[in-house]
Order: sequence, then structure tokens, then C-alpha cells
Amino acid sequence: HKYVFFFGDGKAEGDGSDKGLLGGKGAGLAEMTNLGIPVPPGFTISTEACISYYTNNSQYPAGMWDQLLEALKKLEVATGKGFGRVENPLLVSVRSGARASMPGMMDTVLNLGLNDETVLGLAKKSGNERFAWDSYRRFISMFGDVVLDVAHHHFEAILRSMKSERNVQVDTDLTTADLKELVGRYEDLVKKETGAPFPQEPLEQLKYSINAVFGSWNNPRAKTYRRINKIPDDWGTAVNIQAMVFGNMGDTSGTGVAFTRNPSTGEKAFFGEYLINAQGEDVVAGIRTPEPIASLKDKMPEVYGQLEEVYLRLEAHYKDMQDIEFTVEQNVLYMLQTRTGKRTARSAIKIAHDMFNEGLIDKKTAVLRVTPEQVDQLLHPMIDPNVQYTALAKGLPASPGAAVGKIVFQSEHAEDWAGRGEKVILVRVETSPDDIGGMNVAQGILTATGGMTSHAAVVARGMGKCCVAGCGALQIDAAKKELRIGDTVLREGDFITINGTTGEVINGQVDLVEPELSSEFADILDWSDEYRRLGVRTNADTPHDSTVAREFGAEGIGLCRTEHMFFEGDRIDAVREMILAESPDARRRALAKIKPYQKEDFLGLFRAMDGLPVTIRLLDPPLHEFLPHTEQDIQKVANATGLSAAQLKRKAEELHEFNPMLGHRGCRLGISHPEVYEMQVEAIMEAACELKKEGLDVKPEIMIPLVGHVKELAELREMTVSVSDEIIARYGVEMQYLVGTMIELPRAAITADEIAREADFFSFGTNDLTQTTLGISRDDSGKFLPLYVEKKIFPEDPFVSIDEAGVGVLVQMGVDKGRQTRPDIKTGICGEHGGDPASVFFCHRIGLDYVSCSPYRIPIARLAAAHAAL
Ligand code: ADP
Ligand code: MG
Ligand code: MG
Repeated sequence: HKYVFFFGDGKAEGDGSDKGLLGGKGAGLAEMTNLGIPVPPGFTISTEACISYYTNNSQYPAGMWDQLLEALKKLEVATGKGFGRVENPLLVSVRSGARASMPGMMDTVLNLGLNDETVLGLAKKSGNERFAWDSYRRFISMFGDVVLDVAHHHFEAILRSMKSERNVQVDTDLTTADLKELVGRYEDLVKKETGAPFPQEPLEQLKYSINAVFGSWNNPRAKTYRRINKIPDDWGTAVNIQAMVFGNMGDTSGTGVAFTRNPSTGEKAFFGEYLINAQGEDVVAGIRTPEPIASLKDKMPEVYGQLEEVYLRLEAHYKDMQDIEFTVEQNVLYMLQTRTGKRTARSAIKIAHDMFNEGLIDKKTAVLRVTPEQVDQLLHPMIDPNVQYTALAKGLPASPGAAVGKIVFQSEHAEDWAGRGEKVILVRVETSPDDIGGMNVAQGILTATGGMTSHAAVVARGMGKCCVAGCGALQIDAAKKELRIGDTVLREGDFITINGTTGEVINGQVDLVEPELSSEFADILDWSDEYRRLGVRTNADTPHDSTVAREFGAEGIGLCRTEHMFFEGDRIDAVREMILAESPDARRRALAKIKPYQKEDFLGLFRAMDGLPVTIRLLDPPLHEFLPHTEQDIQKVANATGLSAAQLKRKAEELHEFNPMLGHRGCRLGISHPEVYEMQVEAIMEAACELKKEGLDVKPEIMIPLVGHVKELAELREMTVSVSDEIIARYGVEMQYLVGTMIELPRAAITADEIAREADFFSFGTNDLTQTTLGISRDDSGKFLPLYVEKKIFPEDPFVSIDEAGVGVLVQMGVDKGRQTRPDIKTGICGEHGGDPASVFFCHRIGLDYVSCSPYRIPIARLAAAHAAL
């Protein structure tokens, strides 16, 4: 069985389609090699070998090591160097590379093959002693950290004291003699920490490094990253072993990272950073401040020209924006990595739109290039343009959007604070992969050092989180929990606002507003509409929300919750009067006060939705929720009704429920207090008929909630139809309307064939259906559901993403059974799930007619519905 795949000399044993086997990095290296792009030769150990290593007690699969030795020989021939040979030694990098890119999460070792002998050979061969010893000290610290578990900060401390002893600022100022001494101190450190000398045998170094890379798949930060990004734990990582090229050979060498287009804005311009005389992670780790790629044009015009050529070829080949890593060794360019670049939502949209216009991709691909999750980011807040403010400082605009929150200086603290419901901004000198958990819960991230491709910037953009990076004015004292910017001193818990679009850092809380949608975004959504089959409606209770939703492309209202209208202004007084009424007559008197308000609401809603269907749900929540709480409230009702406060109190106590969500609510109210629903139907129909007379196109759909038995619906439908028809006749208009029900109890789904006899439509209320099917209270689940998700009992919070195996089966059953009775029955979903991409996919699959979601999720639902159909 083949575990080792060679690449070099213009051809590779695998190619770009082998991501599963070779990992993303290995596949990219193979593909670039096949394209004739200059890549240092090497070989990839497959993910299969990694998985086998895990399942077989950390043993390599049979044959792997021999294949590796063979590939190593081939590499020696390709490079003309010898692994472990003193004259002209071959050095390699050992690089992790999973199927999905996990930037910086796993380990890499550079300059492997150096030891106390080969370092002399390297010095001699290169004629550059300083370079050889610089490579060796880098190797010892990387290998020490990654393989030998000697913490990185020990090496850092030694380097720091060496720099201060020699009175130099940056490591490039250290002399050859300094570096030799540094190597000696590093070797002493390793000996002290591990009890053994630094391993000198190159093959042994190689084996240990491979094991460390395999092992890094399971380090805590990689696990956290996978959990957040939903990457399966059983994919494993490949290992790439590649001949080293050296960016640390002096002023004609360097290393950089770049994007073929701007990952923040999407602008079609080569974008990136590089460092002269540097190696590997120096650029991203923020060791020195990197220079913008444009300046390479002056410094190394030839190399820059080649680089441009390579990026154009890569884009033409992959037909997508690429994130590339390169190294220049003595004016010769080498490519070390290419992958599809992570980008902000704004950038994704611009790039998809541009690439379609450039003829690089077709319309379908353009639609598929923008994910529903990214669209979600676009709907994130910005600083209110009408607000005047002065910025305390300005850093790099690393990831757009704005955020307000309390300052915290450590990731664990961020997680604690966020766990208590606080909004926080994570403020760090720079971030590392260990900060991933804190970044995930923060509103935004602010760093003092690092560039546009620093860890903080890249990760924040991927998360759709606002980030200001490299803000040099910050003086952070994490131990004292203090941040100084000029004369201003801020402490942990103080509010700060950051603007990732401009890089500004502002003291205190600044008002944020929802963003405007770009015309490119509107185009992508319009293109989505060409492909989707699912309708997209909105959940809205007010004309304002309805108008917003219509602008976002809503095709009607899928759920109007009438009770929300009951709480506005003084209306609640009349509602309480109605609830506490002693007789149907008294109740009717109170209802007569409410009706004009309701009618006014419906007039506004129908106007905003002229020409589109409007589903209105009759009163649903338990009466319990409307009860007066304070003495003052009770007195108000007493005054209005003439009843005594004591009488009212007693009545209120009678209405108290132990389990209100399973109590006197939904259609049960309609059955026991028909006059309430009658009033609502009258208000709906009178409003509809009046507007019809004005010439508007009104399409009311009256929805009865919480039906569990067909007889409940039959009774309420009869009432609804007789009240409606009487009003329609009175107004003398032509009016089509529908009467339907929510399916939100298991019994309703199970008996949907019977219920469909009385229903023109089903709207699956998956919030309650999830609550009633799982027997998990929506309002109390916070105490244990997060643990369930963490333990993977549920893959996702079932109130966020539909539980397909449970609740989903009931929905499917409801649709199928409903159609048996009434083939043309309209079906939709109106729970929170309507705006969740995975749930939208599910709704598409089982053939619902529409999803309904909150206004700001409409664009997400439109795009998700298109993705589901493509
Ligand atoms: P990551 O997955 O964290 O990006 P990489 O495997 O890409 O890790 O390695 C990090 C950096 O090390 C690369 O960006 C590159 O600069 C450097 N590097 C890796 N392999 C080589 C090599 N063969 N020659 C020179 N530099 C290398
Ligand atoms: Mg890399
Ligand atoms: Mg409900």
C-alpha cells in the first residue's frame, strides 16, 4: 500500500484533487509542481498513515518507513544534497497539512537535518557562516518546542537576554559569534529540560518530528479549532517533508505571504507582506514588522515579476483567490504553499461578483462562492455614521465591522466573562493559536503588534469578527490588567469600541448601526433567486419589520405573532381587563377596546405587504404571561372594571399555572374563550376588506396555534370562516383567504392526515415542536444543553439547527400525511430554524414550500435555499 507520495522536478505522484489523502498543503504542493511552478521538491506522507498510526498504538503502517527512505533518496538525487551528510547537507521541513486548512494550529519544524557537524558543512558550502548558525538556532528552538516539549518561552527568554547583552534590537543584528553562543545555550537548555543532549542523528530527528506532527492533530488548540469549524476529528493530518530553501541568507533573500486579491475588501489587487532575511513564521508571528508586498517591486523587481506571474497562473488555474507562501533564496523565487484564501464576507461577495464578470467562473459558481454564514457576517453592525467621536489610536483595519465591549486581556478571562453574558473585546499584544477560544467568544479583537496577515487578522476574518491589529500605540500590561494609550489608562472591564473597517480604537461605547447592503451583494442574492425553489418569508409583527424584510427580499409574512401587539403602550391595560373578566360579556367589553388597535396593526401590516401573503397567528401564549404583577397594575385594572383589588388578585392567582407552556394557551384559549379569537378574526378581516376596497392586493392567511387534535381545528375553523364570510359579505368585496394551523405538537404531526382535512396550510412551528418532541424546555435548556453539545450528545443546539433525526422526522411525516389528504396543502416552517442554513437545506430536501425567518436573516435564507438547490 502506498503511503508516501513524491513531488519534484516538474511532476508529482498526486495532484490537487487528492486533498483527502495528501491534505490541503500536500495537494497544493503536488498541483503547483505539476503546473511547473517552482516548488522545492519533497514528499507527502498520507493522512491514511496518520489514521493508521492512531489506531495502531502509535505504530507506522507496514511499509511506510521503507517508502519514506526511498523517497528521501529520491530527494537527495533531486537536490544533489545528502541527508545527514556533512558536505552539502540536505535540510528539510516537516510540515503538517490536514484536509481542511487549520492555519497555525498544528506543528511545523524547519531546518531539520542540522547537527553539530552538518552546521559546519552548511556554513562551508554556502560560504555564509552566519546563515548556517542562524538556521541551527532556529532548528533547535523549533524542534525543542514541537518535539521535545521544551516550552517556546524558554528559548525566547534566552534570545531576549542575548539581545540585551549585545545591546541589539532585532535578531538580524546578532553576529555569527552571537548565534554560535546562542546555539550552545539552547543545547544546554535542552539538556537541562529533557535530561538528554539535543538529538544529533538526522533520521531520528525526522522520525520524532513526524510523530510530533501526527500528534499535533490532537493538541488542544487544534481540537478547539475543529470544534468551532466543524471539522471531523477522524480526518487526520498528512505530513509534508520538503527540501528547505532559505530566506535567511542575507539581503537577497526573504520570505512572505500574500493573497491574490484583497481578503478584506475583495479588491482585485495583489496583497501581502514580506520580510527580508527571514524565515518561516517570522512574518506571521510579528517578530519584525513586515513590509507591504508592493515595495518588493522596487527591492527585487525580477522576483516580484515572477511572483505576479505565478499568482495570475494560480488564479487562472484554481479560479479562486489564493493565499500563498513564498521564499526567496538569493534572488530565486520558490512557492511553498497555495490554498484557497480565507476572506471576509464582503470580500467573498466582491470576488465572486468580479470573477463572474471576468468570465473566470459561471453564475452558479459565483452563488456557491458566498456562504450563508458569510452573509451573516455582513449583517453585523458598523459605527453609526451620525456619531461624532475621536479615536484614541489607530491600528490596522484587519477585519471589518465594529464592536463594543469590555476590555479583557486574557483568553480564559474572555471566556469567563462571556459565559456570564458580558460582551468583551479581547486585547492582546498579539494572538497565538492558543487564543482561539477567547477570540471565538469576543465581540472583537485588538492587538498591539502584527500585520494584516497576522494570526489575529486571519482568524478574525475567518470568524467574521471585527479586528484591529498592530495598534502600536497600545501599551498593554496584562499582569496589571491595564491598557495605556497615550495619557488614557483603561482597565479590565472598561468599555472600548473598535472599528475594524478603519482601524480606529475609541474610548467608551459608541453607537452601532446595521450596515447597508452593497449592489454586488444584491446581485448575488438576485442570482440566488434564479436557483432556489424554496420561498422565503419573514417573521414580522410590525409594518417597520415588514418593510425591512421586504427590502431584504421577503416574499410575504410567514408568522405574525399577534400577542406582541398586546404589549404596546396602554393596550396591556385593556388586555388585562379582558383576561381578568368575570363573564363573557365583561370580556367582550374589554375586547372591544382592544379591537381598534389590532385592526390598526393589521392595516399597517397588509399595506407593507401589499401583493404578498400574510400569515397571522391568533393569540398563542398562556394568559399567565399577561397577568398584572404590581399593586399599581392591579389598581389600574380595578379602576377600569369596578372590581376590587382583592377580587382581582384572587382571579390572578386562579390563573397562575405551574407549567404554562403546556397550559392554557394556543387554540385552547380559542376553545375556552371564543370571543378572543372572534375579535382577532374580525380585526383581520375588516382591515383586509377595507384595503381591498382601496385597491390593495391583500392575502390574509389565518393560523391557529398549538392544535393537537383535528376537532380543535374544526371548531375554530368553522368560527373563523363564518366570521370572515360575514364581514366579506358586509364589505361586498372579493377576498381569498386561507385558514391553516401550526404543526408544533407531536400529535399534530402524527395525525397530520386528519388535521389536513381542516387546514389549507401547515406551518411547522419548530421551536415548540422541538420543545415538545425533546421534552426540553426552551427557557431552561441553557443549564444543560451547552454541555450536551460539548459532549456531542447533540451535534448542535437543536433550537438553533433542526434535530433532523427526531424533530425532522416528525416534520417530514407531517408533510407527507398532510399531502395524502390534501395534495396541494401549503407547507412552511416558521421557527428560528427558518434562518439557519443547515435547517434550510433540510426544508429544501423534504419539499417544504417556504421558510420564514426574522428580517435580518432573509438574505441568509435566500442564499442557503439556492445552495440547497444547486
Ligand atoms: P502552517 O501550516 O502553519 O502555515 P507551514 O507548514 O506552511 O505551516 O510552515 C510555515 C512556514 O515555514 C511556511 O510559511 C514557510 O515560510 C516555512 N517553510 C516551510 N517549509 C519550508 C521549506 N521547505 N523551505 C523554506 N521555508 C519553509
Ligand atoms: Mg503555511
Ligand atoms: Mg409555538
